[in-house]
Parts: sequence; structure tokens; C-alpha cells
Amino acid sequence: MSPETRDVCIVGGGPAGLTAGIYTARAGLDTLVLDGGQPILERNAHLENVPGFPAGVNARRFLDLTREQAERNGCDRRETRVRAVERAPDGRFELDTDGDERLLADRVVCTSWADTDYLAGVEGVGLIERGSKTYVDVDGDGRTGVDGLYAAGRVAGSRHQTVVAAGDGANVALAAIEDSEVPFYHDWVAPEGYFTGRGREVPPGCEEIDDDERERREREAREVMRRHFSEPHPEEPTQHPSVEE
Ligand SMILES: Cc1cc2nc3c(=O)[nH]c(=O)nc-3n(C[C@H](O)[C@H](O)[C@H](O)COP(=O)(O)OP(=O)(O)OC[C@H]3O[C@@H](n4cnc5c(N)ncnc54)[C@H](O)[C@@H]3O)c2cc1C
Repeated sequence: MSPETRDVCIVGGGPAGLTAGIYTARAGLDTLVLDGGQPILERNAHLENVPGFPAGVNARRFLDLTREQAERNGCDRRETRVRAVERAPDGRFELDTDGDERLLADRVVCTSWADTDYLAGVEGVGLIERGSKTYVDVDGDGRTGVDGLYAAGRVAGSRHQTVVAAGDGANVALAAIEDSEVPFYHDWVAPEGYFTGRGREVPPGCEEIDDDERERREREAREVMRRHFSEPHPEEPTQHPSVEE
């Protein structure tokens, strides 16, 4: 059976990986997030410093919202751990997962805090040991020096904060989009006439919407948020593994 192929595989489905997936999928790249489960944010008791939530938000709710957002924007997501990444003979990346799947991807974005073991077979990737942790060596846009391989979020040395990891995921995704040469200007939704009213084409990646469409989207956004916030979240924070019950 021929392996599944993707434009982008993202290893890790925390704030960095999910945000990266939202951006690459919205740019039209066929994207799959592979997540080993239990993002570290599930340990948070109440998330109070993410913009847009004046009284904070349940961190598990925030992850649910971000997962749903990724999926709505066309990013696929699978719960499985990536065991190994290697260069395939044709220059793409081959990923092996715990589910014994073989995947081929043009680009791989590592957002897998705190695991880098699966990169052992990729020649040229720099790993930095700091204390008991290992980080992936990247430039300011998450490029590792191995063409097509990127890292974002805490595993790339970002500060240990949700919104920083998410922002880094977006930044690195934009670098991957740029390198893939899909036509892209900015990921913007503008009111009707914003570009065309000045005699400009709507740039690639941007969209103009009229008032009806804007109101329809706002209605839908309110319904989605009502559904998510109508009941308390059923799950409790995950405790640190070394804390005794
Ligand atoms: C107790 C606690 C409270 C916190 N409170 C706050 C707070 O109030 N505010 C704040 O801003 N930040 C807080 N943080 C920090 C925040 O959770 C992290 O900085 C942020 O989640 C990092 O995002 P990330 O996407 O880089 O990594 P993660 O969220 O850890 O996501 C990495 C994902 O990669 C997956 N993964 C790992 N290896 C593999 C593999 N081989 N294959 C597939 N998937 C893999 C993991 O399962 C995980 O889901 C808190 C952290 C903790 C522990």
C-alpha cells in the first residue's frame, strides 16, 4: 500500500502545533497534526493570560476550541505518537508512528515539547541540551537548517507561555508557507472593497467579505462559543506525574 502523503506534517498538537496547522491549512497546504496526547497545558488550573478571555478560560476548553478551529480550517488531526522521522530517497520526509503508519511529507514542523528522540535519524538537525531538556536549534523563523524541517513552541526554546507558543507556531507556519511557494500575501479577512475599492486585486491569502457574509460568520461564531461555554468543562487538570495521589 502506498503511504499517505501530505504537504505538511506537524508533530505535536499543543498551542504551537495547532496554531501552525491553522495557518498552513488556511494557506491551502494539506496539513496533518500528529499528537501523542496530553499537551502540557492540560495541567493548567485556570488560564488567565491568553488575550481575549477577560476572566481567563479553562485550559482544556481552550485546547478544545483551538482543535476545533484547526479542523474547521481544514487541518486534519490524529492522535498518535511519531516514533521516527527520516529523509525519504526522493527528498521528502518519512514519518513512522505508533500506529505503524508510514507518512510522507514535504515539510515537517516539530512542536513536540518535550520529545526530540524521533529526530535522531535526520542528518544535520541541531539539538541543544540544557539541563535535563533537549531543544531543537532554529533560526528566528523556526528553520532548522535542514531544508523543509522546522520547529516551533517550547521545543524550539520559546518561553514557556501558551500565547508565545501559539504565536511562534504561526510565525514558523508562515515561514513554511513562504518556502512552499504557494501564492500568499497575508492571512487577512477584510471588508468588501478594502482592496478592490482601490482598484487592487484581492491578494492571495486574503479575502474580502460583504456585510451579509460578515453577519453570518459572526452569528456562527456566537453559536459555537455558546455551545462551548454552556456547561463547565468535564475534565480536571492533569497532575504532575511525580505528585503522589
Ligand atoms: C502546570 C502548568 C500551568 C501552566 N499555566 C500556564 C498559564 O497559566 N499561562 C501560560 O501562558 N502558560 C502556562 N503553562 C505553559 C504552557 O502550557 C506551555 O508553555 C505551552 O503549552 C507550550 O506549548 P507547546 O505547543 O510548545 O507544547 P505542548 O503544549 O506541550 O504540546 C506539545 C505536544 O506534542 C506532543 N508530542 C510530544 N512528543 C510527540 C511525538 N513524538 N509525536 C507526537 N506528538 C508528540 C505532546 O503530547 C503534546 O501534546 C503552564 C504549564 C504547566 C505545566
